[in-house]
Parts: sequence; structure tokens; C-alpha cells
Amino acid sequence: MAPPVRPGQTTPRVAIIGTGFGGLGMAARLRQAGIDTFTVFEKADSVGGTWRDNSYPGAACDVPSHLYSLSFVPNPAWTRKFPTQPEIRRYLDSIPARTGITDHIRLGAEVKAMHYDDDTKTWHLTVTDLHNGTQTTETFDAVVAATGQLNRPHIPALDGLDTFEGPVFHSARWDHDVDLTGRHVGVVGIGASAIQFVPAIAEAAASLTLFQRSANYVAPKADAPLSARARRLLHVDAFRKAYRFSIWARFEARFMALRDGSVLNKMGQNLFDKGLAKAVGPKLTREMVVPDYTLGCKRILIANDWYPTLMRPDVEVVCGGVERIEPDAVVVDGVAHPVDTLVFGTGFESTGFLMPMTVTGRHGIDLHQSWADGAEAHHGITVSGFPNLFVLYGPNTNLGHNSIIFMLERQITYALTCIRSLVGDRRPLDVRPGAQAASNRRVQRDLGRTVWATSCHSWYKTATGRITNNWSGTTLDYWRRTWRPRWSDFDRV
Ligand code: NAP
Repeated sequence: MAPPVRPGQTTPRVAIIGTGFGGLGMAARLRQAGIDTFTVFEKADSVGGTWRDNSYPGAACDVPSHLYSLSFVPNPAWTRKFPTQPEIRRYLDSIPARTGITDHIRLGAEVKAMHYDDDTKTWHLTVTDLHNGTQTTETFDAVVAATGQLNRPHIPALDGLDTFEGPVFHSARWDHDVDLTGRHVGVVGIGASAIQFVPAIAEAAASLTLFQRSANYVAPKADAPLSARARRLLHVDAFRKAYRFSIWARFEARFMALRDGSVLNKMGQNLFDKGLAKAVGPKLTREMVVPDYTLGCKRILIANDWYPTLMRPDVEVVCGGVERIEPDAVVVDGVAHPVDTLVFGTGFESTGFLMPMTVTGRHGIDLHQSWADGAEAHHGITVSGFPNLFVLYGPNTNLGHNSIIFMLERQITYALTCIRSLVGDRRPLDVRPGAQAASNRRVQRDLGRTVWATSCHSWYKTATGRITNNWSGTTLDYWRRTWRPRWSDFDRV
């Protein structure tokens, strides 16, 4: 942890954008370090990020509760092995008061643009107050962008979508005013979210038609309420830490299964192939349940109610891409499937990092233009030409095997050390282009050994063939590379 600020030292003014795990964690760590000169901007009216927005029925996390929380804001009160969305949201809601950052948070405040001023070496943020529409320009020494990878829902531009006559919404903007009782619901996109909300709405809906482009690998979920005894034990610091470590270590081992051709990948593939073959029968064809890609290409999902839901007589799986939408139907391969409600579980615009903000760095360079061939940052955190800008859950920091909270904590600690180095009016830090290029060459090289590069559809790649979302190794490897900033990687500008 960075040493506390000494009395009389000038601390940098820090803007944090977003109040998910990253933004709240960053604010809490700044305050712990004695840096109180920060403001947290949040465009919504409450904190919580993706766990506020994803309130769909059945929403839950596939990482165990005790690993899915900030290590420096522990939550001994988890009630289940795997947390549900309401429980995660309650935890996130509790963080501001517990860490003393409440007064630093500005709700309903959207950062539309940020511009680095070469003369004053500061960032000017254009902030819109969404409550009254006023726009202000506010100045900071450093900016932490904690907007994440999953904040902008993706709805495909399907022909005829605007002609559909019934309710239409995305899983991350669930319309709780629409009563699904007795409705004929079409679900487009069957991924991590759909396998949770489809079983949860199946009982109420009159029928469900699932429009699935690719099948998923779905494993059983070893979920259960934590017993009263376990919960008592988990109030003991040492026990809780050991339990957290054991979950992390178990999940860490799963990275080996993401290496193409590895023994673990082949073993896992065999296990799934045998299990999935059992699900194939008169109701479910092979195409409906057996993925046509290598294990690990898409997130391996966990659920106990997925295959039983698919077996229901009122649930139909339609394989293939959606051709067009009609006022009362979805057309696939020339066949119109009647539905009166459409739900999209089609994921997020996850490669558009920091969108839709305009970000202008040194000498007027535009961040999104410099990322036109795919986003990249040094360790996913700093970007050359954008001094004192720190990105959390940035390019190449997503995981397929372990908890993203671990990665966020590494990024928070790294950014905190950099920000701490600015105390006393030190000049801004700009990562050297050579350091950024070298770390990204290594990431892309290492990604080349994973299933994402070798055996998957083009999902994970940009038009130029780069992978910009996923980290290339274990979380331990990320920890080793980010345990402290290497000052020779930076210029003081
Ligand atoms: P997702 O897992 O990426 O699934 C999106 C689905 O939409 C896929 O089945 C995809 O098909 C389909 N799709 C996309 N465009 C389509 C189109 N034009 N026509 C038809 N189908 C289309 O998205 P998600 O379920 O929203 O989850 C997004 C991310 O949220 C996940 O990757 C995960 O990181 C996170 N998440 C995490 C948890 C958790 O427990 N931690 C839970 C839910 C979500 P293809 O596969 O063929 O592209």
C-alpha cells in the first residue's frame, strides 16, 4: 500500500469516472492513502455499474461470493456460495458509507469529454449534470476511467426491428414494467446472461423461442446457501482470507484449460462432449446443445436449470442467424417464428473502450483515432500520449478463468502508486511508446498460444486480427507485471 500523505503536502486532484467495482475501489484506496482531493462522476442516480444495470430475473455471478468482493472492503455477510445480483448490489451500495467516500460521489453527472491541456498539464472534463442539463468544465491533475467493458448494451441492427409491434428490450436494461405472464417471448442471443434469465422467466411466459447462433458449454453450478456455521467462521479474518485464497487458486488453475492443445483443454473437452451428448435427443438436436468451437473460446457457463428449461414443451430453440424482424415474428432461414415480445441477450459493445467519451491527449491526439485498429494500453492501464490517465478494466484485462476483481485490485494499486508519485506537484506521467508497444507485443504473442487466437471464430479479434479484450496469461502473471510501476517505462512530461 502507498504510504500516507504527509501533512502540508499538495495532493493531486483526481477525477474518477464510474462507480462499479473499479471506481468505488479506486476512491476507497485513494482515501485510505490520505488523498482526499478526488471526485467520482456517475451518470446514473445510484452507484453499482454493471451490477446496477443488469437487474434481469435470475441475474447472478459465476464467481464465488468470497472472491467477488474487494479484499480491502470485505463482506463476511454473503449468504450463498455464489452471489445473486441483489446481494452484489447491496454490497456495492454499502461501500461508499463504509469507506467514507459518499461525499465525493456526484450522481447524475456524465463526463462527455476530457481534454489534456499541454500548457497547464491538467485534464479538463466536460461534465453534464443530467438533473438540470447544465454543462461545466472541471479541471483535474489525473483521471481514472473506470467505465468498464460491459456498460453499453449491444443490440444488433436487424432488418425490420423498428417495425416490431411488441415490447423490445436488452437484458442489461430489463423493462420491469413489462409483465411477461402469458406472453410469447423471443430471445435473441443465448450467452452468459440469457442462460440466467431464460429459466427465470420460463414459468411465467406462455412460450419462449430462443434464437441461438452458437451453443454454449454449460457446466453444473455448485451453488448453495452458506450454512450458519460457515457464515460464523467467515467472520473470522484469517479463515475468510484463507477461503478466498483457496477459491482464487482453484480458479487460477483453470487457465491451463485455455491453452490450445493443453492436456487440461483436451480433458475438459472430452468431459463436456460426453455430458452434452447425453442432452441430445428427440427434443434437442446436436446443433442446439453441442458448440462448434473449442472449449474456452466463449466463457464456460454454469447453471443447473438450463437443460431442464430447454426440455420444457413451451420452450423452443431455433438455431441460426436472425434474417429479419417482422411486426409479430422473427425470421430465421426463411421461417417466421411468431413472438409478441423481444428480449436481446446479445452482450455489450465491449471493444469500444471509453466510448462514447471524447478523449484528447497531448498535442490534440484523439484516443479513439489512435485506437482505430484496436485499443491498447500498457498493462491495460496507461496509454502513451495521455498523461496521468489511468484505465481500469482496460484493453487486454478481461479474464476467462478467474475473478475480474483481482485484476481491478492490481490496476487500482498500480494507479494509486502512480498518483501517489504526483504528490507535491510532481510532473505528469506519460508512458513511453516503446514500453507500451513492448508490453502489447508480448500480450499478443502470449495470446497466440490460447484458444482465443487459434481455435475460435473471429469473435475475439479486431478487423486487423488483434485480441483487445482478454488478458494473455494467469492472474499471477498479471500481478507480477503490475506489482509496481517501472518508472523507466514513463516520461515526466
Ligand atoms: P454474451 O455472453 O456475449 O452472449 C451474447 C449472445 O448474443 C451470444 O450468444 C451471441 O452469439 C449472440 N449474438 C450477438 N449478436 C447477435 C446477432 N446479431 N444475432 C444473433 N445472436 C447474436 O453476452 P451476455 O450474455 O450479455 O454476457 C456478456 C458478458 O457479461 C459475458 O461475456 C460476461 O463477461 C458477462 N456476464 C457475466 C456474468 C457472471 O456471472 N460473471 C453473467 C452474465 C454476464 P454468438 O455466440 O454466435 O456470437
